Amino acid sequence: MLNSSPVLISTEIDRLKQSYCKSLPDKLLKIEESWQRVLTFCEALKTEPGLSALKQHGYSFPWNREEVINLHRLVHNLAGSGATFGLHALGDAAHLLDLFLQAILQNINPPTPEQCTQITALIQRLQSIPILSERTINTPLAIEFAQHNLHNLSHSASYANHYPQERCIFLLEEDDQESENLLLQMASFGYNVILFKTMQALQIAVAQSSPIAIIMDVMFLEDSPTEIQSIKIIQSLSPLPIPILFMSLRDDLIARLKAVRAEGDAYFTKPINIWQLVDKLDRLMIHYLSDPYHILIVEDDPVLADYYQLILEEAGMKTIIVTNPTQVMEPLIEFKPDLILMDVYMPDCTGLELAAVIRQQETFVGIPITYLSRETDVDTQMVAMSLGGDDFLTKPIQPDHLVAAVTSRVQRSRTLRSLMVRDSLTGLLNHTNIKEQLHIEVARSDRHNCPLSFAMLDIDNFKQVNDTYGHLAGDRVIKNLARLLRQRLRQTDILGRYGGEEFAVILTDTDGETAVKVLDAIRLDFAQVRQQLSDTGVSITFSCGIASFPDYLDATHLNDAADQALYKAKQRGRNRTVLAIPSDSKEESLLL
Ligand code: GH3
Ligand code: MG
Ligand code: MG
Ligand code: MG
Repeated sequence: MLNSSPVLISTEIDRLKQSYCKSLPDKLLKIEESWQRVLTFCEALKTEPGLSALKQHGYSFPWNREEVINLHRLVHNLAGSGATFGLHALGDAAHLLDLFLQAILQNINPPTPEQCTQITALIQRLQSIPILSERTINTPLAIEFAQHNLHNLSHSASYANHYPQERCIFLLEEDDQESENLLLQMASFGYNVILFKTMQALQIAVAQSSPIAIIMDVMFLEDSPTEIQSIKIIQSLSPLPIPILFMSLRDDLIARLKAVRAEGDAYFTKPINIWQLVDKLDRLMIHYLSDPYHILIVEDDPVLADYYQLILEEAGMKTIIVTNPTQVMEPLIEFKPDLILMDVYMPDCTGLELAAVIRQQETFVGIPITYLSRETDVDTQMVAMSLGGDDFLTKPIQPDHLVAAVTSRVQRSRTLRSLMVRDSLTGLLNHTNIKEQLHIEVARSDRHNCPLSFAMLDIDNFKQVNDTYGHLAGDRVIKNLARLLRQRLRQTDILGRYGGEEFAVILTDTDGETAVKVLDAIRLDFAQVRQQLSDTGVSITFSCGIASFPDYLDATHLNDAADQALYKAKQRGRNRTVLAIPSDSKEESLLL
């Protein structure tokens, strides 16, 4: 899915556009038929004497309003999709009719005969747009479309190549000694730092690939607007925004203000406190370690839906399409979208109604909803927002705008969500969530008939660490262990902070013996680290208890068994790993 070449994408868009063009005669026919129904209804009523009498008494004349609403929807959708596929003449003509019908629908009275004539004329104009007769169906790729959208699409496609390399940081620092020092320290936290001495070199590198962050000496900003400009250039070279962290000798407001204006994400004064810096980087990393974004596309036009899907998947996201709004519940539950991309005008129920229904359910309250519509009317947009939408994007939307809008929305909501489910000190899942995950993963292992291990870790004699070196020093040790676990375990393993100095790990598809090997290796490494709590460094250890599925068949038993195994590890002298064995509660003690 990722890394498709722009050529492949253009072929794919071409195919979508062709199939869109093929669907146009049918779309126009539906518009024509709908309008005929409105006219027939009006005609039939004209001959009704009672109604004419009512009209004379000032009553509003009955008309087929429902059908006009339907007609408006068909036309509005055509305006949006036509423009999206670069058929501007068609899009514009439909847009005109769209506005006209909108105005009609504001009245209580039916359209006047003059208005009817105008609508008929506008429909005829729509039908006469050459794009339909000139058989674009067989042209390889409409040139206007290629020129306009393709550039943007290939730009969004390059997101895939730009997806930040794991733990890669760019550092811009002139001073050799400072940079060497920083490089060394950050490497010990598992970050791969690439050093640049000039802004130009940095720009060239950013155009090739993105780091997870750029750290730069704020000396570069000193009274020089061109340097702020250079930072803007850097951001423009990368399709995804790169967090920029500034370092400076100065701690005054002016210097900090400059950093803010240059859109820095953090500001560190020299000498750099490496803990603070690494904390910030760890938090940034959480974004990139997580799943690809899940986007649910609700759009009644299948071709348009395919088009959005193509763009978003090229940018590395996962998508599911729902063309019938009444079928939105299942993917909401199963697919767990990070964001819903919602068309406004659809048959059966509008996007606004659907948003209101979704928002009524507590589980889905947090999912951002972004409307996609040809709607330019601010009032309608405001109504949409009040009904629970978060954003309004106007069709046709450029591929890179779509990707950027979706990305920033999802990033924001993931950050908010992570504050709820993650522990603030370590960024690992909190107690409630790791337990919830254990239930989910046990059920999954059961379904797929594969093993799973659950490990509980507790730092040894931690009270003593706090008492001797202070609470802050203790926090640092907790973070160090969290970091080591994150680095050493697989992406598919789930990590949580179970309580104060206790951690829990779910090792998916891993039997008990393997889990013991993995965690024991981590235990030995952790004990080797000289924690920088005093001048000489201190060695700190942890104990670990493990229980595995299917030895224990549900989350509660796994939890209890791992807890008891941990207790035994403590009893036997700490700094060891114990695997729970179910039969007559014999357990193995492995390694000292
Ligand atoms: P054992 O080897 O038996 O686990 O001994 P211990 O001292 O680690 O165990 P105990 O449960 O007696 O003490 C745990 C200590 O952890 C007590 C508490 O003050 C400390 N603690 C809990 N949460 C935090 C935290 O977030 N930060 C710091 N610094 N200390 C914490
Ligand atoms: Mg629609
Ligand atoms: Mg404890
Ligand atoms: Mg302890």
